[in-house]
Amino acid sequence: MRRGAWPGTHDACAVERTPAVFRRLWAQRAATNLLEKSHSRCFRLAPANFTPTRPGSDRRAHDALPPRSSSPCLARISFVATLPFEQARQVVIAQVGQAPLPPTEELPLEEAGWRVLAEPVVADRDYPPVARSIRDGYAVRSQDLPGRLRVVAELRAGQSYNRPVGPGEAVAIMTGAPVPEGADQVVMVEYTTQSGAEIITDRPPRPGEFINPQGSEARKGEVLLEPGVRLDYSRIALLAMVGKQRVKVYRRPLVAILPTGDEVVPVDVEPSPYQVRNSNAYSLATQVARQGGLPWVVGIAPDTYDATRQLLEQALQADLILLSGGVSMGKYDLVKDVLRDLGAELYFDHVLIQPGYPTVFGRVRGKFFFGLPGNPVSTMVTFKLFAQAALQTLEGERQLELPLLPARLTAPFRHQTGRTRFWPARLSADGTEVTPLRWQGSSDVVAVARANVFLVADADRQEWQAGETIRVLLK
Ligand code: AMP
Ligand code: MG
Repeated sequence: MRRGAWPGTHDACAVERTPAVFRRLWAQRAATNLLEKSHSRCFRLAPANFTPTRPGSDRRAHDALPPRSSSPCLARISFVATLPFEQARQVVIAQVGQAPLPPTEELPLEEAGWRVLAEPVVADRDYPPVARSIRDGYAVRSQDLPGRLRVVAELRAGQSYNRPVGPGEAVAIMTGAPVPEGADQVVMVEYTTQSGAEIITDRPPRPGEFINPQGSEARKGEVLLEPGVRLDYSRIALLAMVGKQRVKVYRRPLVAILPTGDEVVPVDVEPSPYQVRNSNAYSLATQVARQGGLPWVVGIAPDTYDATRQLLEQALQADLILLSGGVSMGKYDLVKDVLRDLGAELYFDHVLIQPGYPTVFGRVRGKFFFGLPGNPVSTMVTFKLFAQAALQTLEGERQLELPLLPARLTAPFRHQTGRTRFWPARLSADGTEVTPLRWQGSSDVVAVARANVFLVADADRQEWQAGETIRVLLK
């Protein structure tokens, strides 16, 4: 698959190169009034040959751009979009889905668990290859039932039996053993009484009962797994079953993690009261690794244009880039400026969620990136909602799932409408009941560490009573 032509170079008006997907989204925005007031702003895009004129400056590179009137784009550029979270997720999947498929490697079966399959898997023979008994009992001719039958042989799994079962005969048979010719029913041991070499049963005739016919699970040559599926334990079993000792899988993408912020210090540094330890690099690395990516923490970027740009240029070696922090509207939130000057295309820069509102997604020099808001819970939630889908797609996985499951609230819940809210909560062990936890907001990691789910409060509903159903997102 190839990327589409959009977006093109940065010397044209973004309005003209708006992809169909956004035109549709904006039409929906107008129609449903679902979105907040537009966040459209005129970004004066850097000319191709532009370099910041004030190296070392920690002020926005915008200051160094040519005056607005000389910029080729005079329209209010609205390719930076605010989207509801489902749509933002779809944009991620659609954009990353256009990237070429990742390179592949061949692994021994025992190393392939949880990787993404890169080749079709075909049945090497019929499954089962012969009709098999699925119970311990007696293989009989159904027309002889009910009645008294002579036991003429015993058949264990792994044995074969050549003589057909004749009238009035039964063959003792174990689960998994091939059903001998002539027999068309298996009578479970429990339904028989033994009398010397004979059995007596009152079972009625039921042709086919407790027999798995040849090829009933799969036919020889049938495609059993398509490329793009994750190799869970059942799929690994399937590969073993069809005799695949080595399997082609997609390579694990390298994911650059770039935390930003003057106040962020490494974990081994004693922070002053005004500093925070770099927890985002660790949560992100864990989330990336759990999803099959190779995390690479590039370093902590202080809030200066040059440092951010330098580390980001290093991060471009990775397959996916995750920045944390520096994407809000503050004076020192430089990430978008740096990205823009590197020629980035932004697909959205706000999502109607809390936490995680100022989430940025785009592509720079051929690499997809996320600017995740720096508050630790925002970083975790936005990875889960958006970056995870990008990573999965870059791993070659198709048909992504993000199940939001219903559960009964044990307590009332209310929130301010307008954004989908992800609130730390405890789901009961049986998955039926959910209890919202006390939570101080996006910086409160303690509550999230105690939670096992996020409760998902819809953007358009304010209140839920105890006992009502609400959706949850598994952590
Ligand atoms: P920002 O999105 O840059 O405005 O950051 C918001 C807040 O998130 C900051 O005030 C920090 O307290 C916190 N923060 C930013 N980066 C990190 C990080 N790497 N680890 C932990 N907390 C962070
Ligand atoms: Mg910051």
